[in-house]
Amino acid sequence: MRTNIITAQINRSLSISTGRPPSIEFPPCSVIRNAMRVVCLDLEGVLVPEIWINVARVTEVAELTLTTRDIPDYHELMQTRLTILDKHGITLPMITSVIASIKPLEGATCFLASLRERTQVIILSDTFEEFAQPLMRQLDWPTLFCNSLIVNGDGKITGYQLRQENGKREAVRALSTMNLTVFAAGDSWNDLTMIQEARKGAFFCPPASMVEAYPEIPVCNNYAELSAFLLGSEA
Ligand SMILES: [Mg+2]
Repeated sequence: MRTNIITAQINRSLSISTGRPPSIEFPPCSVIRNAMRVVCLDLEGVLVPEIWINVARVTEVAELTLTTRDIPDYHELMQTRLTILDKHGITLPMITSVIASIKPLEGATCFLASLRERTQVIILSDTFEEFAQPLMRQLDWPTLFCNSLIVNGDGKITGYQLRQENGKREAVRALSTMNLTVFAAGDSWNDLTMIQEARKGAFFCPPASMVEAYPEIPVCNNYAELSAFLLGSEA
């Protein structure tokens, strides 16, 4: 009751000062009550389709369908990809032209916009800056921490530079030292330590092998479930 009275007073005051109808919505109580929350989200498989699977489809190089869902060791996966790219003469401009045609997963844009209205969100991805721009534009430019490619003058990808080793986990660890409450979600093996490091973490539509290996980690199978988890209580 008291909250309603104060809300009405604020709305009346704002209406007088701006001349516009007020619009204040208080976030869920669990967010107000606890330390400031940051949600760390994986990108591919959570908000956008797997980039490399689309590259494989367009280039018709089936070997490129391997992702972090298949090969847990990221360095092994990237070395495999670089070898395949070299073998088939696939350059960065060819890959970026494929990425330009990728749309976010159905419902992802609305889900992310709604989440960002209620809490802070950082995308922690093992993708590359050189790949990300068209996708970030479609997601309304969320904050993104990711890796970089090493490319020669002919557009050939010769290597990659990790932002830091185990960057997702280290980001969660660092944010936690800033007295932030970190929640996290992802779909792949490279999200595991991020999820385990967070105050609360969940898989989003993970492969069966991960659910089997880590039955204690909650699973969200759609954006409604994920939103409820990420905005829910810390307990
Ligand atoms: Mg992923």
